[in-house]
Amino acid sequence: MQITIMFYETDFEIQDIAKDIIAKLGLDYIDTEKILCIRSHGSKSRRTIARIHSLPKIMQAALNTKAFYVIEIISENFDKLSYEDKIKTLIHELMHIPKSFGGGFRGHGNFVTRKKVETSFKNYMIKNSSLSFSF
Ligand SMILES: [Zn+2]
Repeated sequence: MQITIMFYETDFEIQDIAKDIIAKLGLDYIDTEKILCIRSHGSKSRRTIARIHSLPKIMQAALNTKAFYVIEIISENFDKLSYEDKIKTLIHELMHIPKSFGGGFRGHGNFVTRKKVETSFKNYMIKNSSLSFSF
């Protein structure tokens, strides 16, 4: 019998970078206090690099809170990426957050496309040229 142990930890560096992306790309509909970044370990998935989760509306009502979004970084797959691809991955996940910031998601369709990620990435890098991160 094989037992998979998943564990999760807050990744403050990724969280800071996500907040920086939100600020520099002007995604002002995103409440940066309600974006959490979690690094997961032990995933069996070879393809998934990151995922975005939210607190569903029913849970918001039950807990009397507003929406929260969690970007999950799959450590085994994310860490292999180049700096550029890590940033693009974060931009991609942030793009799934709708303007309403209500707990739902925008699908890939016309919203979250490779082209839009590339455009946002270029804009981010222009505004970010004086900074560097440790990864
Ligand atoms: Zn996606």
